[in-house]
Amino acid sequence: MKVLSMSLNFGRAQLSIPGPSVIPDRVLNAMHRASPNIYEGELIETTASLYPDLKAVARTKHHAAIYIANGHGAWEAALANTCSRGDKILVLVTGRFGQGWADVAGRSGIEVETMDFGMQGAVDPQQLCDRLKADKAYDIKGVFTVQTDTASSVQNDIPAIRKAMDEAGHPALFYVDCIASLGCDRHEMDDWGVDVMVTACQKGLMTPAGLSFVFFNDKAAAAQEHADLVTNYWDWHPRANPKQFYQQFGGTAPTHHLFGLREALTMLVHEEGIEQAWKRHDTCARAVWAAVETWGCLRLNIADPARRSRAVTTVRSDGDDCGRLRHWCEHQGGLTLGIGLGFAEKGQPVWEQVLRIAHMGHLNPVMLIGALGTMDTGLKALGITHGSGALDAASTVLASHGAE
Ligand SMILES: *Cc1c(COP(=O)(O)O)cnc(C)c1O
Repeated sequence: MKVLSMSLNFGRAQLSIPGPSVIPDRVLNAMHRASPNIYEGELIETTASLYPDLKAVARTKHHAAIYIANGHGAWEAALANTCSRGDKILVLVTGRFGQGWADVAGRSGIEVETMDFGMQGAVDPQQLCDRLKADKAYDIKGVFTVQTDTASSVQNDIPAIRKAMDEAGHPALFYVDCIASLGCDRHEMDDWGVDVMVTACQKGLMTPAGLSFVFFNDKAAAAQEHADLVTNYWDWHPRANPKQFYQQFGGTAPTHHLFGLREALTMLVHEEGIEQAWKRHDTCARAVWAAVETWGCLRLNIADPARRSRAVTTVRSDGDDCGRLRHWCEHQGGLTLGIGLGFAEKGQPVWEQVLRIAHMGHLNPVMLIGALGTMDTGLKALGITHGSGALDAASTVLASHGAE
């Protein structure tokens, strides 16, 4: 490790990038054990206990399939189980991740149309409605969006998008990527009319990267009959309806991840409660915004508070202030902030004008005020002109938690 002279960075480091998130010690400890029997006993029961809790977080009564994969795997699983080569889909892009899903679909031989709302805006439901009304032959088989785009930190209005589809009277399946938002932002899969929802374990679900999840309703399950992209490994049916234990994973279970996830879901669903977790994330997000607004030298990328993620905040600066601050925080402060994603390529000037503050998952005031205080210190150390009182603004928001 590089030894910095005159560094302050000699304590426990904090990762505040928007995924993977901070892993609770309890989750790590639950994983620190010998391999279990994969044919009978505790692992079988533990695995069975995960589904009701996963569905409680997703707010669905329908089906859930687990994949030993990251979010990209879940994207591909959702496509493979419902689409055929040559099908047409419409992907709503609000940053980096919608485009990522579109690219995966394109590589699978699906014809992809995108509607791009830029790096600072949410999906416009009216534009979607107009587009779907024009699709009189129902060529578009699916509408794809992300709830929270982790690059721009926009939070799309999922019920409004569903409403636009219904207004157009269009039968396309509705797919939502909740990889960054699940467990952080309110999500109501069934009530909001989402047909397929994908997520992964390493963000709001506080577990080391390596598991992803696809939730689907009966309408989506029926689409599989015509889907020629489905293969043995990606088929969600045996995973969601296993006759034998191994079928849930298409082979050996991800043993330690399952124990870790069990502990994380106990914390999230049974101890805190999902509604409380949403409220906590809302308070933490508003504390971050208050600090950023008080500094003044950094701008929140998403202007409308209702359309901002409660899991991650993207901020921008003039010049290279974001890049310098990120560097200072990491090397002097022990705080790793997120790089700007989707705005520019590394090496271009804009790359240094964006950073992201994660506030997802396992987070308390010590960590949040610590992160904001470290940023505040960095602004001073770097001589970046900024308003004072950011920590006061943030702590005022935190102090009001639960007092509405
Ligand atoms: C992190 C993320 C992904 C990608 O997940 P991986 O696990 O890196 O494959 C996709 N979509 C969103 C919204 C994300 O935040």
